[in-house]
Amino acid sequence: YHGEPDTDFILPANKAWAKQIRDQWKKNAGDVPTVRPVVVDGKELIGERKKVEVKDKSQLPLDVVCGVYVQATAEDLHLAVEVAHQDPDGWRALTPDQRHETLSRVANVVRARRGDLIGVAAAELGKVFTETDVEVSEAIDFLEYYTHAVRSFERPTLTCKGKGVGVVVPPWNFPIAIPLGGIAASLAAGNTVIIKPASIAVLSAHALCQCFWDAGISKNVLQMVPCAGSVAGEHLISNEKVDFVILTGGEETAYAMLETRPDLYLSAETGGKDATIVTALADRDQAIKNVVHSAFSNSGQKCSATSLLVLEEEVYQDPHFRKGLIDAAKSLSVGSVWDFKNRLSTVANPVGGALKKAIETLEEGEEWALEPSFVEGNPYFLSPCIKWGVRPGAFTHMNELFGPVLSVMRAKDLKEAIEIVNMTGYGLTSGIESLDAREVAYWREHIGAGNLYINRGTTGAIVQRQPFGGMGKSAVGAGRKAGIHNYVTQFMEFDEVAFPV
Ligand code: GLU
Repeated sequence: YHGEPDTDFILPANKAWAKQIRDQWKKNAGDVPTVRPVVVDGKELIGERKKVEVKDKSQLPLDVVCGVYVQATAEDLHLAVEVAHQDPDGWRALTPDQRHETLSRVANVVRARRGDLIGVAAAELGKVFTETDVEVSEAIDFLEYYTHAVRSFERPTLTCKGKGVGVVVPPWNFPIAIPLGGIAASLAAGNTVIIKPASIAVLSAHALCQCFWDAGISKNVLQMVPCAGSVAGEHLISNEKVDFVILTGGEETAYAMLETRPDLYLSAETGGKDATIVTALADRDQAIKNVVHSAFSNSGQKCSATSLLVLEEEVYQDPHFRKGLIDAAKSLSVGSVWDFKNRLSTVANPVGGALKKAIETLEEGEEWALEPSFVEGNPYFLSPCIKWGVRPGAFTHMNELFGPVLSVMRAKDLKEAIEIVNMTGYGLTSGIESLDAREVAYWREHIGAGNLYINRGTTGAIVQRQPFGGMGKSAVGAGRKAGIHNYVTQFMEFDEVAFPV
């Protein structure tokens, strides 16, 4: 197994390719959009179902429709589970080798459609090209790695089969890699699968499902049911023929699922409030580079994003560090995803909730080192901002914001810095910037997080090398790490057969 390389957009040929993707999407913008159907029981269904228009967020006014999708009804959901349970095409009966062959074919289709997937995520969610590009690589890695993992522990005395029916409920912030990873793991383990896409990422979900269908996975084996979360809760998750659910989303959603189905096998990744600690013994320039990327790429809309920067006293007082951090954040230009100079584009939802509160309030001791603003008056183009002097227990210390807001806190020493980080109760990713091995060892021993990064940004976990998943409030149910073999085995049943010797 080898990881898939990302595109190097510095190369002129790749730049030209990126321009082609953009020009194609811009050219198609005025066309009558294709309708993405519900896919259930081997069929594409439209009929009288409710249609939803998706607006291209890359420019104002928001009146360009870049796609239309159809919402599944309660009956569609019941039928989908029944079909998945029956498995009329016999996916579960295939051997791991046969599944590997098919999923490798899917990987080839994904490779060939890298540009289409980048384009759809750009139009639908305003995700910048380089960010989706790494997602496509990760998606290919999931496809290749999970089946490879299943084959690696095959032996004659072991029978292993899928649990049955899996439901994947992905988020919108990684519209390609996360849904595809859930589908790939379910299928590699020998299950049929139903995806309920995030409602603002249906076009991307449809594009990636199309890769599976075109590679020979039938529309009975992978079904797609766009619908509201409440409808899915009532008519999909509640169905006892659903054997497991893979969720990436809010803690409340995870607990609501378990309330509906206490017996449900749930593997849920539920967010983070991730921090990077910079000690006095850090390479401060490197720290700035890593923190700025981890805090602001994809406008901070990553569960893994550095949202807290905890500085040891000496660094906190260092005017060069403060200025360097502000200048680096300011240098990230914000605007339309189709203009390649922009490093940040849209936030996916109109600013509300915790993010709104965070940018509109300053608590005691806090000041803006870099004030939030909306570029070109577009309510989706939120610029990077840095809140300085956040105190333990403050709103932005304790709450996940999912936006380009970095909260800077001070600590008298490493021990206090770790306490501040652990206070959040989340535990997904955590970073330290220090060139001192003893400090790093102490931090590893005491920090509570699933993914620990040393002198590296906190985002962009690599399949197999950095299995991704957390602890505390960041994981509910089984909450196993993704991108490692026991992520797949949790969706399987094993029987060891003993022969007389
Ligand atoms: N796996 C992604 C990363 O390492 C984060 C996924 C998420 O935001 O849920 O950056």
